[in-house]
Amino acid sequence: MRRRRFLQISGAALAGTIGGCGGGSSSNVSTGVSPVVSPVVPTPTGLDWKPLINGMQGQVILPANASYAQSALVFNARYNNATPAAIVRCNSPADVSTALAFASKNSVVITPRCGGHSFAGYSTGSGMVLDVGPMNSVQLNSNGTATIGAGAKLADVYSQLIPKGACIPSGTCLSVGISGVTMGGGIGILDRQYGLTCDNLVAAQIVTADGKVLQVDTEHEPDLFWALRGGGGGNFGIVTSFTFNTHATQDLTTFNASFRYEDAMKVFLAWQAWPASLPDSIWAQLNFTFFNPTATPSVSIFGCCIGTQADLAPHWTALLSAIGVSPLSTQVTTSPYLDVAMGFCSGRSVSQCHFIGQTPDATIQPYGFASSSDFFDAPLPAAGIQAMLDGINNARSSGIAGQILLDLMGGALARVAPDATAFVHRKALFSVEYFMDAAAGSNPLWSNGMRQRMQSWSSGRAYVNYLDPLIQDWKSAYYGSNHARLASIKARYDPGKLFNLPQGV
Ligand SMILES: Cc1cc2nc3c(=O)[nH]c(=O)nc-3n(C[C@H](O)[C@H](O)[C@H](O)COP(=O)(O)OP(=O)(O)OC[C@H]3O[C@@H](n4cnc5c(N)ncnc54)[C@H](O)[C@@H]3O)c2cc1C
Repeated sequence: MRRRRFLQISGAALAGTIGGCGGGSSSNVSTGVSPVVSPVVPTPTGLDWKPLINGMQGQVILPANASYAQSALVFNARYNNATPAAIVRCNSPADVSTALAFASKNSVVITPRCGGHSFAGYSTGSGMVLDVGPMNSVQLNSNGTATIGAGAKLADVYSQLIPKGACIPSGTCLSVGISGVTMGGGIGILDRQYGLTCDNLVAAQIVTADGKVLQVDTEHEPDLFWALRGGGGGNFGIVTSFTFNTHATQDLTTFNASFRYEDAMKVFLAWQAWPASLPDSIWAQLNFTFFNPTATPSVSIFGCCIGTQADLAPHWTALLSAIGVSPLSTQVTTSPYLDVAMGFCSGRSVSQCHFIGQTPDATIQPYGFASSSDFFDAPLPAAGIQAMLDGINNARSSGIAGQILLDLMGGALARVAPDATAFVHRKALFSVEYFMDAAAGSNPLWSNGMRQRMQSWSSGRAYVNYLDPLIQDWKSAYYGSNHARLASIKARYDPGKLFNLPQGV
């Protein structure tokens, strides 16, 4: 079954829910493999892991262990040719300190991992994968904050908080880890109302390169706390828990409409103008899907309103009227918050809705893809929209299957100053992801090429959670004017570059 990267107009949405990143079996688990991008530094041969095994509570999984093959996998199948020397599953901050000391002493490269969904395979490598997975508790505190272990996945977060009437805004793919999504920012269907995931972070616990366990917030280690909100995972230490402000849940109204591809220009123009009159409680994605390059692409809008159908109605009617053509289909549905958040799990247990190896009955399989991203600070003129549509046509004529996903920004996330957290892209009108199926020898350059194609109109920035190893000016693309401060924080907390990613601060 071919999977879809993000929200789907069919299936989940028609059932009144917004789903996530696909699931079930995949046909491209082992194809399209690219070279590992993490630095390949040989782990000392004959290294004796027993001192670590005996010195920590968690599990050390070595190549000889039966669970190694599955434990080594990451979501992007292009990077599953890596063979980590060990996967070290830490149960506690003390385990993390022990693992860091062992790695330092023995010159073993450390690669942190939570959900394993890094686009660029940055949670696998040749040395020690330090997996925070076992620290996955989710606790709602009496003051309304939630303390979430750094190993929790979004399925754990949503399924445990929402039944208690609380939630944090975050991504749609339920097997994504709370660590990566938070540290890169955290774009989601509720961010116009509640901000990014990282905007809701009030404190974190982190083990730094020297093995110290630090509690960080606006008053304690404030620079480090600033860096953890948008500075990207794997740069400053191993986070072991996050504390977030939560929001009360209520029923959500989801909506979608699909249009003829020949009307794409009209749909695009109206969609990008919509935020001018839109309350923060409404978010929408414009989606071009061309998973079958020989078929006509689909163009659709779908989204979420934190409110009733009556709250949505005047805005939805105004959008459809501004588009000015009859949609092929429309649907508006009100559902319990939990059903929307967990929609992609529909028919599956929470445990099944994890990446294989993370739970005994997990069903999410690796998938080979390449991706890149852009932010646009102003509406695209017709020439810019046409350039994007031409890019889709080029992809299809080259046999490339993929999607372009455009997420409205603004609202609460835009009321945070660009330098108030490390997430700099506050002024963007919308973000774009250029996603391509990179499974079967398809051209992996198309996604990055779209950035170049659109550079006359884009801000030049890119989303660090949609890592693209082909971006040359990544420091400025991911961090803009915040990079200099991030670099000085890195120098202070990790002077020896114990945490060292190819596109790492
Ligand atoms: C299918 C899919 C759907 C997605 N949907 C969304 C979405 O809706 N919204 C959105 O904003 N993003 C989304 N993303 C992007 C996602 O947020 C990033 O890929 C994110 O970095 C993944 O986090 P992870 O913990 O799963 O991945 P990992 O690969 O485990 O980690 C990502 C990075 O963080 C580091 N890291 C992990 N844990 C820790 C830790 N505890 N301490 C320090 N460093 C750590 C890793 O070394 C790596 O560099 C999606 C990605 C995929 C593949």
